[in-house]
Amino acid sequence: MLHFTCDSCGEQIAEDRFVVRLEVYPAQRPAELTADDLQPDHLQALAEELNALEESEEAQELPQTRLFRYDLCPRCHARYVQDPLRVATKKRLNFSEN
Ligand SMILES: [Zn+2]
Repeated sequence: MLHFTCDSCGEQIAEDRFVVRLEVYPAQRPAELTADDLQPDHLQALAEELNALEESEEAQELPQTRLFRYDLCPRCHARYVQDPLRVATKKRLNFSEN
């Protein structure tokens, strides 16, 4: 039988297990248009260029793309979904320090 441990608290997960999957990737910046690009005969070329770009992006993952996967016990799951990036926790800590 498989045993899972919680990636947050390290305890063995007895019953319900929750999986966190995170994907971090750079947001795509739209290609900058110049006045030349808007000339009618350039639009077709631009459209083809954009299509090629989209296809190549789908074909290969960007190197900066990172995938994370964590197992959480029910207790840590409940805490995680309240504040996944720990924004509120950090604010509270900063507040108590002052
Ligand atoms: Zn846990």
